[in-house]
Amino acid sequence: PRQFFVGGNFKMNPVTQEQKRTLVKVLNEATIDPAVEVVIAPPALYIFPLKDILRKDIKVAAQNCYFKLSGAFTGEISPSQLVDAEIPYVILGHSERRTLFHESSDLVAQKTRAALDAGLSIILCVGETLEEREAGKTAEIVESQLKPVVGVLKEADWRFVPAEYGFSDSFTKYHVPPCSKIVIAYEPVWAIGTGKVATSAQAQQAHADIRSFLSTAVSAAVAENTRIIYGGSVNAGNCKELGNQKDVDGFLVGGASLKPEFVDIINAKK
Ligand code: 13P
Repeated sequence: PRQFFVGGNFKMNPVTQEQKRTLVKVLNEATIDPAVEVVIAPPALYIFPLKDILRKDIKVAAQNCYFKLSGAFTGEISPSQLVDAEIPYVILGHSERRTLFHESSDLVAQKTRAALDAGLSIILCVGETLEEREAGKTAEIVESQLKPVVGVLKEADWRFVPAEYGFSDSFTKYHVPPCSKIVIAYEPVWAIGTGKVATSAQAQQAHADIRSFLSTAVSAAVAENTRIIYGGSVNAGNCKELGNQKDVDGFLVGGASLKPEFVDIINAKK
C-alpha cells in the first residue's frame, strides 16, 4: 500500500511574514489525517523560520536545488545545504522551472541524482502542454521527461536498497534507490493555475501510463511502490474524486495550498 501524499507548493507566495504566520496557524490548528504524508514547500527564504513554528508531523520541502554541492553558483541552493538544514524534500522539474527557466529533462535528471546522493527525497514533476495532449502525445512526453531520470539513476551506485525489494547485493549497485525517495507528480501544464482540472479519467490514465513505464524501465516492484500524485487546479471540491482513482496517490497543490481548504485536500481520503 502506498501512503497518500499531499504536497503544498507555495511557489513565490506568500509575500509577507504575516501571511506566512496565518498559513502556519491554520495548519497547526487543523485536524489532519495521520495516515497522510504532508509536505509544504515555501519559498527558500521562509523554510527555516516556518519550520520552527510548524507542527512536526508536516514536513518541509525546497522548490528547487542545484546539482553541485558547493561552489561559485550565485543564487543557487545545494542539496547538501538542504540536508544540513534538515529539509527532507525538494521539488524538481516543476513545469514553471522547465518553461520559464529553461530546465531540460537532462538537467532535472542531474539534479535528481545529486539530491538523492545527498540524501534528499524528491517530488519529481512531469506533464504535457495542451498542444501535446491534443496531439495525442501525453504518454510520450511524460516518458521523455522520466527517461533521463531513470537513466541517471540506473548508473548510480546506491548505498542502500531496502530488503523488501528483493535485489541481491550485487544487483543493488545498479539499481535505483528506494522508491520511497521519489514521488512523481503528474502535472499537466494546461491544468496548472488555470482552474481547468484534469478529469479523474484523464488523471487515472496518465498515472497508469507512468506506472506501466516504470514497470518496463525499472522494475515491477518500483512501479508498484512509487507514489504518483496529481497536480493542477486541485481544490476542496475536486480532490475526493481524483483521490479515489486507483493510481492517484495524492496531490501537489499550488493555489489552494495557500488557503484553509488545503486542510480539506489533505483529508480527501477521510
Ligand atoms: P495549482 O494548484 O495552482 O494549479 O498549481 C499546481 C502546481 O503547479 C503545483 O506544483
